[in-house]
Amino acid sequence: MASPVRVRFAPSPTGFLHIGSLRTVLYNWLFARHHKGTFILRVEDTDRSRFVEGAIENLYRSLVACDLTPDEGVAVDGTTIIDKGEYGPYMQSARREKHLRYAYDLIEKDAAYYCFCTAERLDEVRKQQQLTKQPIMYDRHCRSLSKQEAENRAAVGDEHVIRLKVPTEGVSKMHDMIRGDVEIPWAQVDDQVIIKSDGFPTYHLAATCDDHDMEISHVIRGEEWLSSLPKHLFIFETMGWKAPEYAHLPLLLNADRSKLSKRQGDVAVEDYLAKGYLPEALVNFVALLGWNPTADREIYEKEELATLFDITKVNKSGAVFNTEKLDWLNAHYIKELPVDDYLERLRKGGFLPEGIMAERAARVVRERLAKLSDAPEAIAETVDCAEYPSTMLVWKKSTKEEAIARLTAIREYLFKKNETWFGDAVGMERELLLWIVEMGWGNGDTLWPLRVALSGREKSPGPFELLFVTGKDEGLARLDAALQKMA
Ligand code: GLU
Repeated sequence: MASPVRVRFAPSPTGFLHIGSLRTVLYNWLFARHHKGTFILRVEDTDRSRFVEGAIENLYRSLVACDLTPDEGVAVDGTTIIDKGEYGPYMQSARREKHLRYAYDLIEKDAAYYCFCTAERLDEVRKQQQLTKQPIMYDRHCRSLSKQEAENRAAVGDEHVIRLKVPTEGVSKMHDMIRGDVEIPWAQVDDQVIIKSDGFPTYHLAATCDDHDMEISHVIRGEEWLSSLPKHLFIFETMGWKAPEYAHLPLLLNADRSKLSKRQGDVAVEDYLAKGYLPEALVNFVALLGWNPTADREIYEKEELATLFDITKVNKSGAVFNTEKLDWLNAHYIKELPVDDYLERLRKGGFLPEGIMAERAARVVRERLAKLSDAPEAIAETVDCAEYPSTMLVWKKSTKEEAIARLTAIREYLFKKNETWFGDAVGMERELLLWIVEMGWGNGDTLWPLRVALSGREKSPGPFELLFVTGKDEGLARLDAALQKMA
């Protein structure tokens, strides 16, 4: 029987969940769901100097908000960070003893060594390499120290790191689920530091050992880690462990094909959510960054994506991050929400002003919203009647007298209707248009003054939608005010 699928998202708690990382999360999640496996959250916090307070909580909140809650691993319960599952601890810093033990195993197996080079010496080496235009890497100065000598120096407290002793010749042959067979010459691979002078492991050792200990079956991560894969596989092989399978996801690019940077605009998932991008839209959007299950569609729900997901079909080349597409998808998802859900999300986001007119206006402007945060302005424009000159009430092919006559007749007509009649914009439109025909009037010379009287604007939603928003009393009051202006 094939071993169960176990995948992990392994962020460092150095900031907030980046929209690009959301894709990594999603692909891991989709892969796990597709194979009925387990999606794990491991927090790689061994670099304590880069730890950001609140980052884990924020990250977890974003995952929950997008309905991508991990099955196992680090979780946040109220305000407490907890471990969920049998393979913990899932906070990498709590696994430090294990990492150290593995590092010593690697030294035993002659696959790692102590390095006593000072920062000054390394600096000097780097400068020389820069001058002579050589690749910047450790010059392997301490690699030739005898094990005994190195151990003696370490024992008396000589400051040191531990480095990986990677092969220096030949090529590292790897397989990537997206890229197929990949080869990297060992000459390009550095003797990576695996234990720092403070005794903490670096990412390369910690992630590799944890992937083994947590029985991770597939590693799905960003392309930037592909060049490190030889080191990771070297550790697996030396330790006699079975390595997971790997997939390195294509880079995310700006529209000008430059690398999507953390510094360009808002990139935190939390910021997108706060601006009123729906989680459904964000998930749909990032799913299509580098993959599309069919050629003819853009709208997919998560569960369907999970059914269709095939990691081998992900593109190798970079995926362009197209904000217009995100807005388009978001507008789609906003339109699709059940009305109550839509209003509730507006309310929760702080995008719905108080009052019944605002709520009705929210329904009217929904079609026009790219994001929920566009609502307050659109609602205000729909609810408030602007200051306007009386001349605006006169349709361009008509006269003031005609405007007065039409508005007076409409006022009388509306006055006879009850409040519920105003609750159905479509019904109102049908009835009023018929009535205009019966009266032998034109649409322009009737509806123009009506719409201006209700909105005070050259441009606004249609008169029926506005009547729906104002309701009977306010609608009549605005007509009265318009007639007053022309009197
Ligand atoms: N901690 C690494 C990161 O921040 C994880 C890379 C991996 O998935 O192996 O991206």
